[in-house]
Amino acid sequence: MYDLVIIGSGVTGYGAAIYAARLDLSVVVIGDVDGGTITLTDDVANYPGYIQLTGKELSDHLKAHALDYPVFIDTGTVKDIFRCKENCFYIVTENKSFLAKSVIIATGMKERELEVPGHDELKNKGVSYCALCDAPLYKDKVVAVVGGSDSAAKEALLLAKYCPKVYIIYRREKLRPEPINARRIEREPKIEVITETNVTEILGETKVTGVKLDKPHNGSDTLSLDGVFVAEDKFPDGTKSQ
Ligand SMILES: Cc1cc2nc3c(=O)[nH]c(=O)nc-3n(C[C@H](O)[C@H](O)[C@H](O)COP(=O)(O)OP(=O)(O)OC[C@H]3O[C@@H](n4cnc5c(N)ncnc54)[C@H](O)[C@@H]3O)c2cc1C
Repeated sequence: MYDLVIIGSGVTGYGAAIYAARLDLSVVVIGDVDGGTITLTDDVANYPGYIQLTGKELSDHLKAHALDYPVFIDTGTVKDIFRCKENCFYIVTENKSFLAKSVIIATGMKERELEVPGHDELKNKGVSYCALCDAPLYKDKVVAVVGGSDSAAKEALLLAKYCPKVYIIYRREKLRPEPINARRIEREPKIEVITETNVTEILGETKVTGVKLDKPHNGSDTLSLDGVFVAEDKFPDGTKSQ
């Protein structure tokens, strides 16, 4: 029996593993996507001690740090957790099971899907959730990022390296990126911010051709686009982040 099973191999999971192992606990990290969400960014500028590093580099550092201790990492998806009689937990993946005295759930949060007509039909046909993965596909195209968080700002800044025009469409009054990214956006002429506006429909037959807005922009309630990048966060309980 292990002292601790950590579910999730993102930065939280690896961070927890380092601290637990330092307390001499026997630890297993179970995760299905090595490194988790942070690997989606090529610019982590707020990790103390590193002026510049990518998300993949950060997660690789954390994983290497965890593996410097006797931490066991298992690649798998946890399908079930049972409480056993002896005050322990039975953790079941597709092909293995683990017994542990304690469990830490570090499974992150899911992106908030844009729940508008056209989304499901055009997902991966112009609707994307990852600029780092898909930005090169939109070279010389016009795109929009939907969202106002720091992640949304960073997605837009990355897209501006490829695209001549990047809109940020946000439902609230003001974007809420970190100040350094707010300044980068202000300085980037390819980015135009449209606030207090919601996307109400994604338009296109076989691929995205635009979006419908709930408020006219430059006199029109449609915006012609080649791609829509959704970057709105969601907490694990399903509520929107503020
Ligand atoms: C584009 C972008 C840029 C960002 N930039 C920054 C930044 O610069 N600085 C910053 O501080 N933050 C940034 N963030 C936020 C940061 O990525 C997250 O806060 C962080 O990655 C959360 O880590 P986590 O380990 O809690 O969750 P996650 O990274 O989501 O990891 C959860 C892990 O759990 C695994 N998992 C889930 N369910 C199961 C299961 N049933 N069984 C097994 N494994 C499971 C997943 O596969 C994943 O490996 C950014 C986010 C995005 C999207």
